[in-house]
Amino acid sequence: MYIVDGHCDTLLAMMLKKENLTENSLQIDAKKLKETSCDFLQFFAVFESPSIKGDQALADVNSMIDIFHRECENNGFTKILSKNDLSFKGLGGLLSVEGLYFLQGDEKEIDSLYEKGVRCLSLTWNPDNEFCGGIAGTSGNGLTKAGKKLIKKANKAGILVDTSHITDQGFWDVAECADAPFVASHSNARAICSHSRNLDDSMLKALKEANGMTGINMYDSFLKDHGKADIKDVVKHIEHIASVTSCDHVGFGTDFDGIPRDKSALDYPADLMEVLEQLARLNYSQENIEKIAGLNMIRILKQVLK
Ligand SMILES: [Zn+2]
Repeated sequence: MYIVDGHCDTLLAMMLKKENLTENSLQIDAKKLKETSCDFLQFFAVFESPSIKGDQALADVNSMIDIFHRECENNGFTKILSKNDLSFKGLGGLLSVEGLYFLQGDEKEIDSLYEKGVRCLSLTWNPDNEFCGGIAGTSGNGLTKAGKKLIKKANKAGILVDTSHITDQGFWDVAECADAPFVASHSNARAICSHSRNLDDSMLKALKEANGMTGINMYDSFLKDHGKADIKDVVKHIEHIASVTSCDHVGFGTDFDGIPRDKSALDYPADLMEVLEQLARLNYSQENIEKIAGLNMIRILKQVLK
């Protein structure tokens, strides 16, 4: 069975802590992914804080991209660069970028990111930038002119567009201008937990319309309005999204290594198996469980990648 995790921040954590991907102190390494006993595609996000600017930001981004390539090669990951790579067995790695502050509004740089192996990108993290408003920004703006150009360029190049972290208006602008399926790689259902990082039902339906999906984020604050979340809350979000859309538009985007460890509802990738077991106990068919586990994202990538 394939499992796909659409988001983690392990590259930044590896860079800061000088750890490798074979076995480390983080939530994700090759050993922990193999403990699922599944074929496992992990998205690895390059995340650079918007507060770091200029040459330092670019240097960090390039350093995380280098870590991705080196560690995938050292640990037998298939790098997902084209749709042909999606028939991988064992471990797969897909390079994504979370927030494009370091481009300073230059959408032409998409070509060089593609060259470096990036196959998924989100325009913003929390603050606004030259491409779009971010969910914690002050503007509430949607896509700018440069942002619209960037979406078109990404779709043309064969890069998956990720709407997690952008404003609601930005989400709707992407829905309007995208020429290919798009996702929210690590966002939950606002009807279950009211955090603005989550998606309301009309957005979930728009993702269905676009043949996209959302990946369940394991952060307490996005799973539950108050208190500590657990696997039951993860299942609640899956159930809600599946009922508003179908089992074709939900999956996983754990945010492992990007959330404080004590605020993560799951500890490690192997805990995803427990989520799938709970779905089986709720009488989800094997076919639907496999879609949620990973086949939904693989279907979308087959449509988007070259
Ligand atoms: Zn994020």
